[in-house]
Amino acid sequence: MTNLYLIGNWKQHGSRAAIQAFSEQWSSDANSRLRIAIAPPFPYLQVLDKALPDCELAAQDCSIHAQGAHTGEVSADMLADLGCQFVLVGHSERRQYHDETDELIAEKLAAAQSAGVTPVLCVGEQLTARGAGEQYDVVRAQLRSALAKSQPNLLIAYEPVWAIGTGLTATPDQANDMHAMIRQELESLLGASHSTPILYGGSVNAENADALFACPHVDGALVGGASLDAATFIAIAQSASNNLSH
Ligand code: PEP
Repeated sequence: MTNLYLIGNWKQHGSRAAIQAFSEQWSSDANSRLRIAIAPPFPYLQVLDKALPDCELAAQDCSIHAQGAHTGEVSADMLADLGCQFVLVGHSERRQYHDETDELIAEKLAAAQSAGVTPVLCVGEQLTARGAGEQYDVVRAQLRSALAKSQPNLLIAYEPVWAIGTGLTATPDQANDMHAMIRQELESLLGASHSTPILYGGSVNAENADALFACPHVDGALVGGASLDAATFIAIAQSASNNLSH
């Protein structure tokens, strides 16, 4: 394992006061192999950047358009201009509540890559699919359609939809087995020599982080609710850092 990634997804939470309070508690163990980023809502990108200079910046979404008459949209070029290193693409909440299709997600991936912002492609199955034993087929299909036009510079976040914000977490074996399948699929889609980092997301917290980071195919975590609390996010970062030193 070369690097571990820890990305906090603040969703539609935050305020200037909350960022100030978070930054007063924040401390990170400088580990050059651990990359920590936070994805706040768009209006707080620069506030966060100033408050937490040792965290990288991520956005939660981007437009497929570079610019133009698209009211409410934010382009990947604008994110690059603000210093964003990462952008989430195809988060299950965007797929579910904003009707994002695999085709749109493929276009967003391409837009991010051409702007020089690393996309974090989110994939994952619903509970019904897992119940029916179809989780690998669902995730494989998501990868094939999203990566049809993609370059290899991206991260993947495997986020089983049933584990997001529910307090249910995939077991380390469930996560590791899915990541192994994703790795195999990426090798055939992007080339055998490419090692795309694969993060796990879904109710990661300070208690389950150690076991997840210890999985050989888990290269980090995308953390929602638990990233809003500085002490908890620091504890998760500490787990990642400990894992790198083993
Ligand atoms: C997420 O929003 O990507 C996520 C994984 O949320 P949570 O950690 O709250 O399940």
